[in-house]
Amino acid sequence: MEEVRVRFPPSPTGYLHIGGARTAIYNWLFTQKTAGTLIVRIEDTDAERSTEESIGAILDGLRWLGITWDEGPYFQSAYASEHRQAAQRLLESGHAYKCFCTQEELERKREEARKRKDDYSYDGTCRNRSAEEIGRLEEEGCAYVIRFKVPRGPGGVVSEDAVYGVIEKKYRDIEDFVIVRSNGSPLYVLSNAVDDIRDRITHVIRGQDHLANTPKQILIYEALGERLPRFAHMPLTLDPQKRKISKRAHGEMVAIQYYRERGFLPWALVNFLVLLGWSTSDDREFFSKDELIDAFSLEGINRANSMFDIRKDDPKFFTDPKAISMNAHYLRTMPLDELLPYVQAELEAAGLWSPSFAGNKRPWFESTVDLIRSRYHTTKDFANLGRPYFADAFPMEEKVLRKNILKHDNLKEWLPLMAERLEPLAEFTPDSVEQAIRGLATELDVKAGILINGARTAVTGQAAGPGLFDVLAAVGKQRVVQRLRQAPSLFDAME
Ligand code: GLU
Repeated sequence: MEEVRVRFPPSPTGYLHIGGARTAIYNWLFTQKTAGTLIVRIEDTDAERSTEESIGAILDGLRWLGITWDEGPYFQSAYASEHRQAAQRLLESGHAYKCFCTQEELERKREEARKRKDDYSYDGTCRNRSAEEIGRLEEEGCAYVIRFKVPRGPGGVVSEDAVYGVIEKKYRDIEDFVIVRSNGSPLYVLSNAVDDIRDRITHVIRGQDHLANTPKQILIYEALGERLPRFAHMPLTLDPQKRKISKRAHGEMVAIQYYRERGFLPWALVNFLVLLGWSTSDDREFFSKDELIDAFSLEGINRANSMFDIRKDDPKFFTDPKAISMNAHYLRTMPLDELLPYVQAELEAAGLWSPSFAGNKRPWFESTVDLIRSRYHTTKDFANLGRPYFADAFPMEEKVLRKNILKHDNLKEWLPLMAERLEPLAEFTPDSVEQAIRGLATELDVKAGILINGARTAVTGQAAGPGLFDVLAAVGKQRVVQRLRQAPSLFDAME
């Protein structure tokens, strides 16, 4: 079987975005599945809009997602003369011609067509100029573009897309398109096809927005006598208002970096993105890397547009709730050792990390992370909601304070009393803590729930979390006792 060679050719005019990442992921999965080769090719021919910074951000984003490539990055700009040579060959073989029509003439014809309410397409004025005429115009120094000479007459370009099936575009619906501008710079349709030929690309897997380029590129391949790659176009991704997901409409929310900065795990994001336009017949949701590689196929790519519930102005969710719950799923279920480096990075960034967490307090650190992760959604939560476990100071939610502590006047005495009962415990475990607290409740003839909710809030500032006895054992005796003793000051502060 022929070796599979695919490519990811981003234009480096911004960060790596959701759409680009999904394209890269599909290409990558396909090579993983077929033992093929993935080439990263930077399409940097738009010198004004391409930046070094963007190239760095795109490659960095791919690495963070765990997408590995085998060749490149190659840079399209390095091959400009090769692209022009290809245009030259097309001129020589009669598949292209020089077009001397000026911008003004073309604009005038476009305007006339508009008035007639006709669709404009180039009328072929220069298509049949004689060699003498062309020579004379060139001698006069007239500027020209190079146009591809699309066959005229019946028929059309037929292609078989792995996703969209057989597609025919009639010749009459394809104008003689420009392949080289008057300043000598080649256009995307040409450069991209010539690069794919040089890189021996076997499968072009890209966004549906390039479907319109495909017949033109097929004509170029055929005119150059090259074998066609297989094409697979992926559906568009729309927001709930049915707008195409784009930088313009959605700003930073489409950047991979946005998710990274908000505590996403790379694999959770890969899993979420892969399902925007691809599915298994049983609509499976979660995949390990091996499972995903095994399940992936180009045939599984959907034709229907996918929906990204981006939630631009929803204060409750910073993105699609499904993406967040997928992240939470991985956060809770992934092997603990794989999660710990992310937690460490968050704690370091928040100034909450202590080297002892990797030293003598390692077992405590591991069990605490394992305990609290069960309710978290992003790695950010370890530094925010997790603060009471890793620091002396932590925020107190006022509403919770009122409900769980201030409403019960007696807690002003009971919480310090709880501290007295907990302090002498030789072993500060969930069991010993539970015994002491339930004993105190019986002694005081009060519902254990009041003591439990009060203690949770005094010790963590929060209303919910894992089981209280586990929480207290994880926070540790010294901090628990200190926080319970200080509880009366919470009343004072609010008076
Ligand atoms: N540079 C193009 C883009 O980013 C590549 C299109 C293609 O895959 O052919 O959309």
